[in-house]
Amino acid sequence: MDQFVAGSDQDTSGRLLNNPKQRGPMDRSPHIVFAPAEVIGNRRNAQLAATLDLVFDRHPAYRQLTKTEALSRNDLQSIDDLSKLPVTTKTDYMNSPEDYRLEANGLSPEEAATWDVMHTTGTTTGKPTPFYSTAYDFYRILSVQEGMMRLRGVDADDVIANLFPLTVWPHGAYARVPHAAAALKIPVINTLPGNPSEHFGHGSGMDDVIGLVERHRATILWGVPSYVRRVLIRAAELGADFSSVRHVFITGEAAPETLRKDFTDRLSTLGANKVFVSISYGATEMQGGMVECVPGSGFHNPAPDQFHISIVDPENHQPLSPGKRGMVLLSHLDRRGTVLLRYALGDISVLADGPCPHCGSSTDRLIETPTRMDSLLKIRGMLVNPALMEDILLAEPSVSEYQMVVERQNPDDPLSPDRLRIRIAGEAPNIAEKIKAATGVTPEIEFSDAQKIYAPGDTLKSKRVIDRRD
Ligand SMILES: [Zn+2]
Repeated sequence: MDQFVAGSDQDTSGRLLNNPKQRGPMDRSPHIVFAPAEVIGNRRNAQLAATLDLVFDRHPAYRQLTKTEALSRNDLQSIDDLSKLPVTTKTDYMNSPEDYRLEANGLSPEEAATWDVMHTTGTTTGKPTPFYSTAYDFYRILSVQEGMMRLRGVDADDVIANLFPLTVWPHGAYARVPHAAAALKIPVINTLPGNPSEHFGHGSGMDDVIGLVERHRATILWGVPSYVRRVLIRAAELGADFSSVRHVFITGEAAPETLRKDFTDRLSTLGANKVFVSISYGATEMQGGMVECVPGSGFHNPAPDQFHISIVDPENHQPLSPGKRGMVLLSHLDRRGTVLLRYALGDISVLADGPCPHCGSSTDRLIETPTRMDSLLKIRGMLVNPALMEDILLAEPSVSEYQMVVERQNPDDPLSPDRLRIRIAGEAPNIAEKIKAATGVTPEIEFSDAQKIYAPGDTLKSKRVIDRRD
Protein backbone atom coordinates (compact mmCIF):
# COMPACT_ATOMS: atom_id res chain seq x y z
CA MET A 1 0.00 0.00 0.00
CA ASP A 2 3.00 2.24 0.17
CA GLN A 3 2.54 3.32 -3.41
CA PHE A 4 -0.22 5.66 -2.31
CA VAL A 5 -0.19 8.96 -0.50
CA ALA A 6 -3.87 9.61 -0.18
CA GLY A 7 -5.05 13.14 0.21
CA SER A 8 -1.57 14.56 0.21
CA ASP A 9 -0.22 17.24 -2.05
CA GLN A 10 3.33 16.46 -1.12
CA ASP A 11 5.73 13.97 -2.51
CA THR A 12 6.41 12.52 0.91
CA SER A 13 7.58 9.11 -0.24
CA GLY A 14 9.36 10.09 -3.38
CA ARG A 15 7.17 7.55 -5.10
CA LEU A 16 4.13 9.51 -6.07
CA LEU A 17 2.82 12.95 -6.49
CA ASN A 18 -0.67 14.10 -5.96
CA ASN A 19 -1.26 17.00 -8.25
CA PRO A 20 -3.84 19.30 -6.67
CA LYS A 21 -4.81 20.60 -10.12
CA GLN A 22 -5.94 17.14 -11.17
CA ARG A 23 -8.55 16.27 -8.63
CA GLY A 24 -11.28 13.67 -8.68
CA PRO A 25 -14.26 13.64 -10.99
CA MET A 26 -16.22 16.29 -9.13
CA ASP A 27 -13.31 18.09 -7.47
CA ARG A 28 -14.23 16.47 -4.20
CA SER A 29 -11.51 13.91 -3.87
CA PRO A 30 -7.82 13.78 -4.48
CA HIS A 31 -6.71 11.35 -7.12
CA ILE A 32 -3.56 9.41 -6.78
CA VAL A 33 -0.73 9.38 -9.17
CA PHE A 34 1.39 6.26 -9.14
CA ALA A 35 5.13 6.51 -8.84
CA PRO A 36 6.98 7.74 -11.94
CA ALA A 37 7.13 5.17 -14.72
CA GLU A 38 10.81 4.33 -14.18
CA VAL A 39 10.29 3.76 -10.43
CA ILE A 40 7.35 1.46 -11.14
CA GLY A 41 9.39 -0.27 -13.81
CA ASN A 42 12.20 -1.09 -11.36
CA ARG A 43 9.78 -2.36 -8.74
CA ARG A 44 7.96 -4.48 -11.29
CA ASN A 45 11.15 -6.14 -12.44
CA ALA A 46 12.19 -6.85 -8.83
CA GLN A 47 8.80 -8.41 -7.98
CA LEU A 48 8.80 -10.40 -11.19
CA ALA A 49 12.31 -11.74 -10.51
CA ALA A 50 11.21 -13.10 -7.12
CA THR A 51 8.05 -14.59 -8.62
CA LEU A 52 9.95 -16.20 -11.52
CA ASP A 53 12.47 -17.79 -9.14
CA LEU A 54 9.52 -19.53 -7.49
CA VAL A 55 7.76 -20.29 -10.79
CA PHE A 56 10.72 -22.13 -12.28
CA ASP A 57 11.03 -24.14 -9.08
CA ARG A 58 7.44 -24.73 -8.03
CA HIS A 59 4.92 -24.06 -10.83
CA PRO A 60 3.88 -27.34 -12.48
CA ALA A 61 2.62 -25.82 -15.75
CA TYR A 62 5.41 -23.30 -16.36
CA ARG A 63 8.14 -25.62 -15.10
CA GLN A 64 7.26 -27.74 -18.13
CA LEU A 65 8.48 -24.91 -20.35
CA THR A 66 12.06 -25.74 -19.52
CA LYS A 67 11.44 -28.98 -21.37
CA THR A 68 9.02 -28.06 -24.14
CA GLU A 69 10.31 -24.58 -24.99
CA ALA A 70 13.88 -25.07 -23.82
CA LEU A 71 13.62 -21.97 -21.65
CA SER A 72 15.72 -21.38 -18.56
CA ARG A 73 15.31 -18.90 -15.74
CA ASN A 74 18.18 -16.88 -17.22
CA ASP A 75 16.20 -16.27 -20.39
CA LEU A 76 13.78 -14.12 -18.41
CA GLN A 77 15.56 -11.09 -16.99
CA SER A 78 12.90 -8.40 -17.25
CA ILE A 79 9.25 -7.81 -18.06
CA ASP A 80 10.07 -7.48 -21.75
CA ASP A 81 11.40 -11.04 -21.73
CA LEU A 82 7.96 -12.36 -20.78
CA SER A 83 7.18 -12.29 -24.52
CA LYS A 84 9.47 -15.35 -24.82
CA LEU A 85 6.81 -17.36 -22.98
CA PRO A 86 3.88 -18.87 -24.84
CA VAL A 87 0.43 -17.41 -24.20
CA THR A 88 -1.62 -19.18 -21.53
CA THR A 89 -5.25 -19.49 -22.57
CA LYS A 90 -8.31 -19.75 -20.36
CA THR A 91 -8.70 -23.28 -21.65
CA ASP A 92 -5.16 -24.19 -20.51
CA TYR A 93 -5.90 -22.87 -17.02
CA MET A 94 -9.41 -24.31 -16.77
CA ASN A 95 -8.28 -27.76 -17.88
CA SER A 96 -5.77 -28.07 -15.03
CA PRO A 97 -6.10 -25.25 -12.48
CA GLU A 98 -3.96 -27.11 -9.92
CA ASP A 99 -1.02 -26.94 -12.34
CA TYR A 100 -1.14 -23.13 -12.20
CA ARG A 101 -0.69 -23.04 -8.44
CA LEU A 102 2.73 -22.75 -6.79
CA GLU A 103 3.75 -25.70 -4.64
CA ALA A 104 3.69 -24.21 -1.15
CA ASN A 105 5.78 -26.70 0.76
CA GLY A 106 8.75 -24.89 2.32
CA LEU A 107 7.54 -21.34 1.65
CA SER A 108 7.04 -18.83 4.49
CA PRO A 109 3.73 -19.18 6.40
CA GLU A 110 2.20 -16.15 4.64
CA GLU A 111 3.23 -17.43 1.23
CA ALA A 112 1.99 -20.95 1.94
CA ALA A 113 -1.29 -20.48 3.83
CA THR A 114 -4.35 -20.66 1.58
CA TRP A 115 -6.39 -17.61 2.54
CA ASP A 116 -9.32 -18.00 0.15
CA VAL A 117 -10.41 -19.60 -3.09
CA MET A 118 -12.47 -17.61 -5.59
CA HIS A 119 -13.90 -18.96 -8.81
CA THR A 120 -14.22 -17.96 -12.40
CA THR A 121 -17.62 -18.60 -13.91
CA GLY A 122 -18.95 -19.61 -17.27
CA THR A 123 -16.89 -22.59 -18.33
CA THR A 124 -18.47 -24.81 -20.94
CA THR A 125 -18.76 -27.69 -18.48
CA GLY A 126 -20.40 -25.42 -15.90
CA LYS A 127 -17.71 -26.34 -13.41
CA PRO A 128 -16.08 -23.23 -11.96
CA THR A 129 -12.30 -22.90 -11.94
CA PRO A 130 -10.61 -22.23 -8.59
CA PHE A 131 -8.29 -19.26 -8.18
CA TYR A 132 -6.16 -19.69 -5.05
CA SER A 133 -4.90 -16.83 -2.92
CA THR A 134 -2.47 -17.26 -0.06
CA ALA A 135 -2.27 -14.86 2.90
CA TYR A 136 0.57 -13.09 1.03
CA ASP A 137 -1.77 -12.67 -1.96
CA PHE A 138 -4.63 -11.46 0.20
CA TYR A 139 -2.47 -8.63 1.57
CA ARG A 140 -1.80 -7.63 -2.02
CA ILE A 141 -5.49 -7.90 -2.95
CA LEU A 142 -6.11 -5.22 -0.32
CA SER A 143 -3.67 -3.01 -2.24
CA VAL A 144 -5.44 -3.80 -5.53
CA GLN A 145 -8.73 -2.77 -3.98
CA GLU A 146 -7.17 0.36 -2.49
CA GLY A 147 -5.78 1.27 -5.89
CA MET A 148 -9.22 0.88 -7.47
CA MET A 149 -10.80 3.08 -4.82
CA ARG A 150 -8.15 5.81 -5.00
CA LEU A 151 -8.35 5.95 -8.79
CA ARG A 152 -12.10 6.33 -8.52
CA GLY A 153 -11.78 9.19 -6.06
CA VAL A 154 -13.09 7.49 -2.91
CA ASP A 155 -12.17 9.21 0.34
CA ALA A 156 -12.47 8.78 4.11
CA ASP A 157 -16.06 10.08 4.24
CA ASP A 158 -17.49 7.54 1.82
CA VAL A 159 -19.95 4.78 2.78
CA ILE A 160 -20.28 1.76 0.48
CA ALA A 161 -23.50 -0.13 -0.25
CA ASN A 162 -22.48 -3.58 -1.48
CA LEU A 163 -25.21 -4.56 -3.96
CA PHE A 164 -23.61 -7.77 -5.20
CA PRO A 165 -25.57 -10.94 -4.45
CA LEU A 166 -24.07 -13.90 -2.68
CA THR A 167 -23.11 -16.71 -5.03
CA VAL A 168 -22.83 -20.44 -4.35
CA TRP A 169 -19.22 -20.58 -5.48
CA PRO A 170 -17.25 -17.78 -3.81
CA HIS A 171 -16.68 -15.04 -6.34
CA GLY A 172 -14.62 -11.85 -6.21
CA ALA A 173 -17.56 -9.50 -6.76
CA TYR A 174 -19.46 -9.91 -3.49
CA ALA A 175 -16.47 -10.99 -1.44
CA ARG A 176 -14.02 -8.18 -2.24
CA VAL A 177 -16.24 -5.17 -1.51
CA PRO A 178 -15.82 -5.51 2.30
CA HIS A 179 -12.09 -5.88 1.70
CA ALA A 180 -12.03 -2.66 -0.32
CA ALA A 181 -13.72 -0.94 2.62
CA ALA A 182 -11.19 -2.48 5.01
CA ALA A 183 -8.27 -1.25 2.92
CA LEU A 184 -9.58 2.33 3.22
CA LYS A 185 -11.06 1.96 6.74
CA ILE A 186 -14.49 3.14 5.60
CA PRO A 187 -17.93 1.69 6.37
CA VAL A 188 -19.67 -0.82 4.12
CA ILE A 189 -23.27 -2.06 4.19
CA ASN A 190 -23.48 -5.60 2.76
CA THR A 191 -27.10 -5.59 1.62
CA LEU A 192 -27.20 -9.27 0.51
CA PRO A 193 -29.81 -8.90 -2.24
CA GLY A 194 -32.03 -11.88 -2.91
CA ASN A 195 -31.97 -15.36 -1.48
CA PRO A 196 -29.56 -17.57 -3.41
CA SER A 197 -30.45 -20.81 -1.63
CA GLU A 198 -33.16 -22.47 0.39
CA HIS A 199 -30.50 -22.99 3.06
CA PHE A 200 -29.87 -19.27 3.34
CA GLY A 201 -32.04 -16.90 5.37
CA HIS A 202 -30.24 -13.55 5.41
CA GLY A 203 -31.20 -12.09 2.06
CA SER A 204 -32.88 -8.71 1.50
CA GLY A 205 -35.74 -7.82 -0.80
CA MET A 206 -35.24 -4.87 -3.12
CA ASP A 207 -37.25 -2.48 -0.94
CA ASP A 208 -35.08 -3.47 2.04
CA VAL A 209 -31.94 -2.82 -0.01
CA ILE A 210 -33.26 0.65 -0.90
CA GLY A 211 -34.07 1.28 2.78
CA LEU A 212 -30.51 0.35 3.74
CA VAL A 213 -29.02 2.75 1.19
CA GLU A 214 -31.23 5.56 2.56
CA ARG A 215 -30.77 4.84 6.24
CA HIS A 216 -27.00 4.57 6.10
CA ARG A 217 -26.64 7.51 3.70
CA ALA A 218 -24.55 5.39 1.35
CA THR A 219 -22.35 7.42 -0.98
CA ILE A 220 -21.28 4.51 -3.20
CA LEU A 221 -23.60 2.00 -4.92
CA TRP A 222 -21.50 -0.96 -6.07
CA GLY A 223 -22.94 -3.83 -8.12
CA VAL A 224 -23.78 -5.25 -11.54
CA PRO A 225 -25.45 -2.77 -13.93
CA SER A 226 -28.72 -4.66 -14.40
CA TYR A 227 -29.36 -4.95 -10.66
CA VAL A 228 -28.30 -1.39 -9.82
CA ARG A 229 -30.65 -0.15 -12.54
CA ARG A 230 -33.58 -2.07 -11.03
CA VAL A 231 -32.77 -0.54 -7.64
CA LEU A 232 -32.82 2.97 -9.13
CA ILE A 233 -36.15 2.36 -10.88
CA ARG A 234 -37.76 0.97 -7.73
CA ALA A 235 -36.26 3.73 -5.57
CA ALA A 236 -38.01 6.29 -7.78
CA GLU A 237 -41.34 4.44 -7.37
CA LEU A 238 -40.86 4.53 -3.60
CA GLY A 239 -39.83 8.20 -3.61
CA ALA A 240 -36.57 7.25 -1.90
CA ASP A 241 -33.94 9.81 -0.94
CA PHE A 242 -30.63 8.88 -2.58
CA SER A 243 -29.16 12.38 -2.23
CA SER A 244 -26.12 10.97 -0.42
CA VAL A 245 -24.99 8.97 -3.46
CA ARG A 246 -21.97 10.35 -5.34
CA HIS A 247 -20.52 7.21 -6.94
CA VAL A 248 -21.88 4.20 -8.78
CA PHE A 249 -19.36 1.42 -9.40
CA ILE A 250 -20.42 -1.14 -11.98
CA THR A 251 -18.76 -4.24 -13.34
CA GLY A 252 -19.50 -7.60 -14.87
CA GLU A 253 -21.77 -6.63 -17.75
CA ALA A 254 -21.55 -4.38 -20.79
CA ALA A 255 -22.06 -0.75 -19.84
CA PRO A 256 -22.46 1.52 -22.87
CA GLU A 257 -22.45 5.31 -22.49
CA THR A 258 -26.23 5.37 -22.78
CA LEU A 259 -26.39 3.32 -19.57
CA ARG A 260 -24.16 5.81 -17.77
CA LYS A 261 -26.51 8.63 -18.77
CA ASP A 262 -29.52 6.55 -17.78
CA PHE A 263 -28.01 6.11 -14.30
CA THR A 264 -27.10 9.77 -13.79
CA ASP A 265 -30.56 10.87 -14.97
CA ARG A 266 -32.33 8.47 -12.65
CA LEU A 267 -30.10 9.43 -9.72
CA SER A 268 -30.76 13.09 -10.28
CA THR A 269 -34.49 12.49 -9.85
CA LEU A 270 -33.61 10.70 -6.58
CA GLY A 271 -31.78 13.80 -5.34
CA ALA A 272 -28.24 12.77 -6.24
CA ASN A 273 -26.44 15.16 -8.57
CA LYS A 274 -22.98 15.03 -10.12
CA VAL A 275 -22.74 11.29 -9.64
CA PHE A 276 -19.68 9.60 -11.11
CA VAL A 277 -20.68 6.29 -12.72
CA SER A 278 -17.36 4.43 -12.85
CA ILE A 279 -17.04 1.31 -14.96
CA SER A 280 -14.60 -1.48 -14.12
CA TYR A 281 -13.04 -4.11 -16.37
CA GLY A 282 -12.98 -6.82 -13.76
CA ALA A 283 -11.34 -10.24 -13.76
CA THR A 284 -11.21 -13.07 -11.27
CA GLU A 285 -7.54 -13.37 -12.19
CA MET A 286 -6.97 -9.88 -10.75
CA GLN A 287 -9.37 -10.20 -7.81
CA GLY A 288 -10.34 -6.68 -8.77
CA GLY A 289 -10.55 -4.70 -11.93
CA MET A 290 -9.14 -1.98 -14.11
CA VAL A 291 -11.14 1.18 -13.42
CA GLU A 292 -11.96 4.60 -14.80
CA CYS A 293 -10.77 7.71 -12.92
CA VAL A 294 -13.29 9.91 -14.76
CA PRO A 295 -15.95 8.87 -17.28
CA GLY A 296 -14.33 7.71 -20.49
CA SER A 297 -10.75 7.91 -19.15
CA GLY A 298 -10.01 4.26 -19.96
CA PHE A 299 -9.41 1.38 -17.58
CA HIS A 300 -6.40 1.83 -15.27
CA ASN A 301 -4.35 -1.05 -13.87
CA PRO A 302 -4.92 -0.49 -10.12
CA ALA A 303 -1.67 -2.19 -9.03
CA PRO A 304 1.12 -1.75 -11.56
CA ASP A 305 3.60 -3.49 -9.25
CA GLN A 306 1.40 -6.61 -9.22
CA PHE A 307 0.01 -6.86 -12.74
CA HIS A 308 1.49 -6.35 -16.14
CA ILE A 309 -0.98 -5.77 -18.96
CA SER A 310 0.16 -6.14 -22.54
CA ILE A 311 -1.45 -6.17 -25.96
CA VAL A 312 -0.37 -8.73 -28.52
CA ASP A 313 -1.20 -9.74 -32.06
CA PRO A 314 -4.02 -12.31 -31.77
CA GLU A 315 -2.36 -14.63 -34.27
CA ASN A 316 1.39 -14.57 -33.71
CA HIS A 317 1.20 -13.35 -30.06
CA GLN A 318 3.95 -10.78 -30.62
CA PRO A 319 3.72 -7.60 -28.50
CA LEU A 320 2.00 -4.64 -30.13
CA SER A 321 2.89 -1.02 -29.40
CA PRO A 322 0.50 1.34 -27.56
CA GLY A 323 -2.39 2.48 -29.73
CA LYS A 324 -2.63 -0.84 -31.60
CA ARG A 325 -5.64 -3.08 -31.13
CA GLY A 326 -4.97 -6.64 -30.01
CA MET A 327 -5.39 -9.38 -27.45
CA VAL A 328 -5.18 -8.40 -23.76
CA LEU A 329 -2.65 -10.40 -21.70
CA LEU A 330 -2.26 -10.36 -17.93
CA SER A 331 0.93 -11.41 -16.12
CA HIS A 332 1.11 -11.75 -12.33
CA LEU A 333 4.27 -10.09 -11.05
CA ASP A 334 3.83 -10.79 -7.35
CA ARG A 335 1.65 -13.80 -6.48
CA ARG A 336 2.15 -17.04 -4.53
CA GLY A 337 -1.10 -19.00 -4.98
CA THR A 338 -2.44 -19.24 -8.55
CA VAL A 339 0.14 -17.62 -10.83
CA LEU A 340 -0.57 -16.81 -14.47
CA LEU A 341 1.91 -15.43 -16.98
CA ARG A 342 0.96 -14.03 -20.39
CA TYR A 343 -2.57 -15.09 -19.66
CA ALA A 344 -5.16 -14.18 -22.32
CA LEU A 345 -8.17 -12.62 -20.64
CA GLY A 346 -10.13 -13.33 -23.81
CA ASP A 347 -10.66 -9.71 -24.83
CA ILE A 348 -9.41 -7.29 -27.42
CA SER A 349 -8.46 -3.73 -26.53
CA VAL A 350 -5.86 -0.97 -26.97
CA LEU A 351 -3.23 0.29 -24.51
CA ALA A 352 -2.70 4.00 -23.98
CA ASP A 353 0.66 5.59 -24.64
CA GLY A 354 1.78 7.61 -21.63
CA PRO A 355 0.19 8.72 -18.37
CA CYS A 356 -3.53 9.36 -17.98
CA PRO A 357 -4.30 12.96 -18.99
CA HIS A 358 -6.98 13.16 -16.29
CA CYS A 359 -5.29 11.82 -13.13
CA GLY A 360 -1.67 11.73 -14.27
CA SER A 361 -1.20 8.09 -13.28
CA SER A 362 1.58 6.17 -14.97
CA THR A 363 -0.02 2.76 -15.14
CA ASP A 364 -1.25 0.43 -17.87
CA ARG A 365 -4.51 1.84 -19.21
CA LEU A 366 -6.87 0.28 -21.75
CA ILE A 367 -8.42 3.03 -23.83
CA GLU A 368 -10.99 0.96 -25.66
CA THR A 369 -13.78 -0.96 -23.93
CA PRO A 370 -12.53 -4.56 -23.98
CA THR A 371 -14.52 -6.74 -26.37
CA ARG A 372 -14.80 -10.51 -26.26
CA MET A 373 -12.56 -11.96 -28.94
CA ASP A 374 -15.28 -14.23 -30.28
CA SER A 375 -17.54 -11.27 -31.09
CA LEU A 376 -14.99 -9.70 -33.43
CA LEU A 377 -14.93 -9.93 -37.19
CA LYS A 378 -11.78 -10.21 -39.24
CA ILE A 379 -12.35 -8.22 -42.40
CA ARG A 380 -9.54 -7.84 -44.95
CA GLY A 381 -7.05 -8.74 -42.25
CA MET A 382 -8.36 -6.10 -39.79
CA LEU A 383 -10.01 -6.97 -36.52
CA VAL A 384 -13.31 -5.10 -36.47
CA ASN A 385 -15.60 -4.71 -33.51
CA PRO A 386 -19.23 -4.73 -34.73
CA ALA A 387 -20.27 -2.88 -31.57
CA LEU A 388 -18.24 0.15 -32.69
CA MET A 389 -20.16 0.21 -35.98
CA GLU A 390 -23.44 -0.18 -34.12
CA ASP A 391 -22.59 2.82 -31.91
CA ILE A 392 -22.10 4.93 -35.04
CA LEU A 393 -25.31 3.72 -36.67
CA LEU A 394 -27.35 4.19 -33.49
CA ALA A 395 -26.11 7.78 -33.23
CA GLU A 396 -27.96 8.61 -36.49
CA PRO A 397 -31.45 9.64 -35.37
CA SER A 398 -33.22 8.66 -38.59
CA VAL A 399 -31.72 5.18 -38.91
CA SER A 400 -34.50 2.77 -38.00
CA GLU A 401 -32.89 -0.51 -39.03
CA TYR A 402 -29.45 -1.66 -40.03
CA GLN A 403 -27.53 -4.80 -40.75
CA MET A 404 -23.86 -5.57 -41.31
CA VAL A 405 -23.02 -8.24 -43.86
CA VAL A 406 -19.51 -9.62 -44.38
CA GLU A 407 -19.08 -11.69 -47.53
CA ARG A 408 -16.65 -12.51 -50.30
CA GLN A 409 -16.61 -10.14 -53.25
CA ASN A 410 -16.95 -13.22 -55.43
CA PRO A 411 -18.94 -15.77 -53.42
CA ASP A 412 -17.70 -18.64 -55.58
CA ASP A 413 -14.04 -17.88 -55.00
CA PRO A 414 -12.76 -18.76 -51.52
CA LEU A 415 -9.70 -16.55 -52.07
CA SER A 416 -11.76 -13.52 -53.09
CA PRO A 417 -11.29 -10.43 -50.85
CA ASP A 418 -13.80 -9.65 -48.11
CA ARG A 419 -16.48 -7.07 -48.53
CA LEU A 420 -18.36 -5.28 -45.73
CA ARG A 421 -21.86 -4.24 -46.76
CA ILE A 422 -24.05 -2.20 -44.44
CA ARG A 423 -27.76 -2.14 -45.08
CA ILE A 424 -29.47 0.92 -43.67
CA ALA A 425 -33.08 2.11 -43.44
CA GLY A 426 -33.07 5.89 -43.00
CA GLU A 427 -30.70 8.79 -43.60
CA ALA A 428 -27.07 8.44 -42.66
CA PRO A 429 -24.85 11.18 -44.15
CA ASN A 430 -21.12 10.37 -44.49
CA ILE A 431 -21.69 7.06 -42.77
CA ALA A 432 -19.07 5.19 -44.79
CA GLU A 433 -16.39 7.73 -43.79
CA LYS A 434 -17.40 7.53 -40.14
CA ILE A 435 -17.19 3.75 -40.11
CA LYS A 436 -13.88 3.80 -41.95
CA ALA A 437 -12.49 6.20 -39.33
CA ALA A 438 -13.59 3.95 -36.47
CA THR A 439 -12.68 0.56 -37.89
CA GLY A 440 -10.19 1.05 -40.70
CA VAL A 441 -12.50 -0.74 -43.15
CA THR A 442 -14.51 1.11 -45.80
CA PRO A 443 -18.00 -0.34 -46.03
CA GLU A 444 -20.34 -0.39 -48.99
CA ILE A 445 -23.58 1.29 -47.96
CA GLU A 446 -26.89 0.02 -49.23
CA PHE A 447 -30.07 1.92 -48.40
CA SER A 448 -33.05 -0.32 -48.02
CA ASP A 449 -36.54 -0.57 -46.64
CA ALA A 450 -36.74 -1.32 -42.89
CA GLN A 451 -39.08 -4.27 -43.51
CA LYS A 452 -36.57 -5.82 -45.91
CA ILE A 453 -33.83 -5.71 -43.31
CA TYR A 454 -35.92 -6.98 -40.46
CA ALA A 455 -39.60 -7.93 -40.51
CA PRO A 456 -40.81 -8.36 -36.92
CA GLY A 457 -42.73 -11.58 -36.65
CA ASP A 458 -40.62 -13.46 -39.19
CA THR A 459 -37.83 -14.04 -36.72
CA LEU A 460 -37.54 -13.57 -32.98
CA LYS A 461 -35.09 -10.74 -33.33
CA SER A 462 -33.17 -8.93 -35.99
CA LYS A 463 -29.82 -10.31 -37.03
CA ARG A 464 -27.42 -7.39 -36.91
CA VAL A 465 -24.29 -9.15 -38.11
CA ILE A 466 -24.21 -11.73 -40.88
CA ASP A 467 -20.99 -13.45 -41.88
CA ARG A 468 -21.43 -15.28 -45.19
CA ARG A 469 -17.82 -16.35 -45.61
CA ASP A 470 -18.00 -19.69 -43.79
ZN1 LIG B 1 -6.77 8.56 -14.91
